[in-house]
Amino acid sequence: MHITHLSVPEALAGLHSSDGGLGTAEAERRRGEYGPNRIERIRGEPLWLRLARQFTHFFALLLWLAAALAFFAEYRDPGQGMATLGWAIVGVILLNGAFSFWQGYQASQAMAALNRLLPNQVTTLRDGRACRLAADRLVPGDLVLVQEGDSVPADCRLIEATGLRVSLATLTGESLPQARNGEAGEDLPPFAATNLLLAGSSVVAGHGRALVFATGMRTEFGKIARLTQTGGEGPSPLQREIARLSRLLALLALGIGTLFFLIGHALGLPFWQNLIFAIGIIVANVPEGLLPSVTLALAMATQRMARQNALIRHLPAVETLGAATVICTDKTGTLTLNHMSVRRLYVAGRLVDLPRTGEARTADGERLRPLFDVARHCHGLREVTDAGRHAVLGDPMEVALVEMARREGGDAAPYRRLDELPFDTSRRRMSTLHQGPEGRILYCKGAPEAVVPLCGRMLATDGVEPLGEARRERLRQAQEDMAGRGLRVLALAWRPLPDSASGDELERELILAGLVGIEDPPRAEVAEAMRRCREAGIKVIMLTGDHPVTATAIAREVGLVTGAEPRVITGGELQRFSESQLQFALEAPEILFARVSADQKLLVVEALQRKGQVVAATGDGVNDAPALKRADIGIAMGIGGTDVARQAADMVLLDDNFASIVRAVEEGRAVYANIRKFLTYILSSNVPELVPYLAFALLRIPLPLTIVQILAIDLGTDMLPALGLGAERPHPQGMRRPPRPRSERLLSWPLLGRAYLVLGLCEAVAGMSLFFLVLHWGGWEYGMPLALGDPLYRQATGACFAAIVVMQVANVLVCRSPSESLLATGLRGNRLLLWGIVVELALALAIIYTPPGQILFGTAALPAHAWLVMLPFAAALIVVEELRKRAVRRQGANLAARSR
Ligand code: ADP
Ligand code: MG
Repeated sequence: MHITHLSVPEALAGLHSSDGGLGTAEAERRRGEYGPNRIERIRGEPLWLRLARQFTHFFALLLWLAAALAFFAEYRDPGQGMATLGWAIVGVILLNGAFSFWQGYQASQAMAALNRLLPNQVTTLRDGRACRLAADRLVPGDLVLVQEGDSVPADCRLIEATGLRVSLATLTGESLPQARNGEAGEDLPPFAATNLLLAGSSVVAGHGRALVFATGMRTEFGKIARLTQTGGEGPSPLQREIARLSRLLALLALGIGTLFFLIGHALGLPFWQNLIFAIGIIVANVPEGLLPSVTLALAMATQRMARQNALIRHLPAVETLGAATVICTDKTGTLTLNHMSVRRLYVAGRLVDLPRTGEARTADGERLRPLFDVARHCHGLREVTDAGRHAVLGDPMEVALVEMARREGGDAAPYRRLDELPFDTSRRRMSTLHQGPEGRILYCKGAPEAVVPLCGRMLATDGVEPLGEARRERLRQAQEDMAGRGLRVLALAWRPLPDSASGDELERELILAGLVGIEDPPRAEVAEAMRRCREAGIKVIMLTGDHPVTATAIAREVGLVTGAEPRVITGGELQRFSESQLQFALEAPEILFARVSADQKLLVVEALQRKGQVVAATGDGVNDAPALKRADIGIAMGIGGTDVARQAADMVLLDDNFASIVRAVEEGRAVYANIRKFLTYILSSNVPELVPYLAFALLRIPLPLTIVQILAIDLGTDMLPALGLGAERPHPQGMRRPPRPRSERLLSWPLLGRAYLVLGLCEAVAGMSLFFLVLHWGGWEYGMPLALGDPLYRQATGACFAAIVVMQVANVLVCRSPSESLLATGLRGNRLLLWGIVVELALALAIIYTPPGQILFGTAALPAHAWLVMLPFAAALIVVEELRKRAVRRQGANLAARSR
């Protein structure tokens, strides 16, 4: 019989489990038998296929064609060195393919490693006690406790449930939550069975206890995964932009190649030779390495971010972060430490101060007993053992309340809990129902606005008395007083229940026990992070469920609000706002939202987006998920957050700290800047590669740089330094500028101008000069014929090649910043870049001085003074760039001065 039909005892017996869960030893044994509770990733594409793809994409095919043509030309017309060219091209395809494959592999490994860092813990009963375990250690027969926000770790049969509702969106696509309970059911498919919790679904409300009956790939989710798993996600906007850019550059290359072919044809070059030249030109100008380099640059950034406690779940989020203009942040836990302690009470008509820790007791614990009773009973905490240690799991605020009650009111055993009306952000209160010695009691706590109106009486100096208007006014004052100090204020109340009361009649005619003021100190790093946001032109908006006065006090403490009159909008006002009213309100320079519920966060995010902002938003609860999904960058909390929020987010903060968001933004900006750096670098060498051909065609001189040598630069010596530029650290200046406009393109006219007209031209002059100089030293004069095999010719082309490499070394240093002097950027701070330069030079030396290099690339050894002559050219490139950069800086300063 299927598990849905069984009664609870039958189901437990069927899996040889019990009310207290499995024993530890038995669980270990089962883990050996059933294996870890994991969905094994079935690769959409095997590795060899991904490798093969690197050799068969469009540009690779173009290269193969070029190689084939070269061999054919050799066959038709031997002795022109065409076979060498053919082999060189084949070598380039292999090297380039292997390199791209390695980059892609590195990037995907990095992402996989990040995903393993995500916390994924479950609460299980073992040996009768609740403990926290990694989800992959679950076995059939385990009992798990689930609550709002958890994702279900395995297929389970519910044993008991309170108000449990699950979302099956990931499994069936159905987005409406469905109720689940523990009763034996009828014959329904697993997705519809009302007493099953399936792996991959998530709990959106309530809590419950459930028996695991299938784990890992044997779950329904595992079965689906086996059928449908495909590799990875679609391309990101940035990757699409790069692809677009690659296509653009490839078209440009094709155009130039065709043009040169036509020129060559007009000049009467032999057809085959001309064709090979044209293809070489095309190949040299196609940026094959661009896309994998970008992906790797993004992946490297995600690893730097992970070290700073920001875990990226989707690669594109890295660069979206860099464009963020607004951060919508929670208060509790993100701006504050979430280390709560009760500091003030307002009870029986007077204010009582409590020390942060320690023994001091209020004198009359007995008289204030009702207050402590509420604090002790009214919570959603769970006691668990974690790695042998006893721990209390849940809201730190409730932990603080329970601790206070224990300290001040004694350690009596709590009354048995009968039921619970859970907390949610729109009700702003919760109640629990208990079996007291004289009948049922209801304990309630929540925001004063949500609790005090339900109270008819209160605990006063001489016992319980009616709550008149004067007393309400005193309460309001006490609340203002505590909130003004940045304390979160809660009202605690109780009520002995008449037997008949149920449902809606429970939370009424309460007796107010008092107010408590809870301190939650701001995080120390936040003030500095706020300052950096201001400098970086990023607006920070706080959205909290807390009271406006408390919210403003905290906002001031962390430096989010500095002006005298911040705009404070409450949830009530927000409800009455029209769309455009909200958009206008958002123009205020300093703004915070208080007493808002989680679903109102979505409204704010959407309004900001309509204003053209790029929005990062934080959240932790189930109700935050829509806002996290909607925001350009959804940020979930790693410690305090729920599984549901984490799954909806693009980024997870491992330390829940606001300051980590700002550091991540910095990295995001750096990535974008780095991609532009290596784009500049790669593009500049195209000019010294094209000019020789132009000179050859127009001036009728021997070709100064052969196709093979062009390939050696583009797909050999340039590769690692470009990667090094992708690994540049964030620059302090990066966070002193406003966010880049959304419309900004990677490839801009200034960038192209700098690469082609400044850097490229300098390099072309150097290359051509060395070519002519070496020819001149060898006694060549204009008009003399020069055979391809002539040692002088080989030396001269080698010199041109070497000069371009040396210029690219100077170039890579210059490209470390588009506007800052080399004196400021220096040589240090990027090991990969220095290694890139070492490898670049070593490759060049191997090509010029080793026999295989000389044969393959048609070079000959250079005299030492040839290298010396290159140095002034490199120095000139640096000086020209310094002058250009100084002009850019001046212009920037002028603009800044004018806008001030
Ligand atoms: P925040 O933005 O600070 O996280 P919440 O939305 O979590 O605010 O809470 C809003 C208000 O609801 C709090 O100011 C408090 O008055 C009340 N509240 C929060 N948590 C609880 C709880 N566990 N029980 C009762 N009331 C609560
Ligand atoms: Mg909260």
